[in-house]
Amino acid sequence: MLLERLSNYAKTNAPCYVYEKRGEKIIYHYRQLARDSDRIAAYLTETLGEDKTPVVVYGHKSPFMLAAFIGCVKSGRCYVPVDEYTPATRVEQIINKVAPKCIFNLSERPLQGAVDMEGFSEIIEADAPEMDVDIQLEAEDLYYIIFTSGSTGEPKGVTIPYRCLDHFVNWALSLVDHREGLVFLNQAPFSFDLSVMDLYMSLGSGGCLHALDKDTQSDYKELYLSLSRSNAKVWVSTPSFVDLCLADRQFNQELMPKLEVFLFCGEILSPKTAKRLMDRFPRAKVINTYGPTESTVAVTSVKISPEMAAAGEVLPIGRPKPGTILAFLDEEGNFSDSGEILILGDTVSAGYFKEPEKTSQVFKEYDIDGKRLPGYHTGDLGYIKEGLYYCSGRTDNQIKLNGYRIELGDVEANLLRLPEVRACAVLPVYGSGKVQRLVAYVVTGEEVPDPLEKAAELREALAAFVNGYMIPQRFVFLDELPRTNNGKVDRKALSELKQ
Ligand code: AMP
Repeated sequence: MLLERLSNYAKTNAPCYVYEKRGEKIIYHYRQLARDSDRIAAYLTETLGEDKTPVVVYGHKSPFMLAAFIGCVKSGRCYVPVDEYTPATRVEQIINKVAPKCIFNLSERPLQGAVDMEGFSEIIEADAPEMDVDIQLEAEDLYYIIFTSGSTGEPKGVTIPYRCLDHFVNWALSLVDHREGLVFLNQAPFSFDLSVMDLYMSLGSGGCLHALDKDTQSDYKELYLSLSRSNAKVWVSTPSFVDLCLADRQFNQELMPKLEVFLFCGEILSPKTAKRLMDRFPRAKVINTYGPTESTVAVTSVKISPEMAAAGEVLPIGRPKPGTILAFLDEEGNFSDSGEILILGDTVSAGYFKEPEKTSQVFKEYDIDGKRLPGYHTGDLGYIKEGLYYCSGRTDNQIKLNGYRIELGDVEANLLRLPEVRACAVLPVYGSGKVQRLVAYVVTGEEVPDPLEKAAELREALAAFVNGYMIPQRFVFLDELPRTNNGKVDRKALSELKQ
């Protein structure tokens, strides 16, 4: 199991995490991780006793995030990663839902009621007793909860038991030629489940994670320097992030000579992106994986061949991993050859945290070949062609923008919190098969003499409630929203308006 593997590396001085911040390089070793997480586990056991309420870990890319995560699970508690760039209102919503007895704040920002960096340092420097690293987590014990966009305007927490993570990591490692000391690249914040792929593939195989923080990712010069110094062999990111990197010609195998494999997940990988990567990185293979947070990161994979990339057609998401079945449901909910993708098997989440109703809507058990399997209704549409699975859109208003999952209803519900917004609808604008930006159609009930100024005001006000990537790029002000015959917002009519 994962934690047993981790304990094998605990006594070594090998690096497990490298992080460069403002020109300073921080290297964190397995021995330190083992020791610090032991201290955190001892602290939690001592202060919380039998109480197993999840622990919120707030921060960005500090190596102590890893110590906090592992410390929590060693103490038998699951953790809830919250990125420090999340707006305060959303952090509050998550904290209210979890009602944690302990919050670790590993950022430089203040967070009420949390153990801050000073307190954290005191804990890990304490002369606490050595602990047994192999705390026995049961398969069904929760390992982490990741919050993701919810259609009602409040994020929902996906609960992942230890069994799911373990099945996922075992399979994900089989996709790469893994051996101790491999460097994995980390792009996603720890509050997104894509980061679970690089973090636990790395920790589960004695590898080292090279983390790129938000500042580095937004400064091309720093980004390429960091990539060139990373010695990364395994790349893990969204396709959107690699598209950004491809914008510069220096992003090629010379910059990253050791790179062996690109692992993608989270959104459509275009054949154009795959082809450009193959041209620039002739020694690296490109693997597309697919899956939602609700089924532990990814459940299918396929190695993209040069022929697939060159054909220019939609790329497949591949074949399911062992332990997972992918089925399709038609509009009546019957098994079919194509339709909504139903994921069945050993990595399906235990449901949304403290949300029994939302959980029962999408998590259902099915009897397959005499076995009762947990299933998740993804809302993705798909089909099979020549033995390979394809993802072809959504049944609902969930979209992906630059790899980020957004419920349009989440943006709309938060826009409606602004006093000047009477009604609104948010629509995606597509280009090259992907969402390029969001447009908000807003009714204020008053004349808007300067739409640009009003849009800027609304954008700023909305930033208090939603993540930056959820804020619409364009605002269109209308006297009223067009409606269909049955009174619903006519999204088709809106999409035909000039944008
Ligand atoms: P998240 O929970 O943020 O990982 O988002 C999951 C959703 O991202 C899925 O339900 C799909 O809609 C989309 N997705 C993930 N991987 C892929 C992929 N390889 N191709 C197309 N869409 C994907």
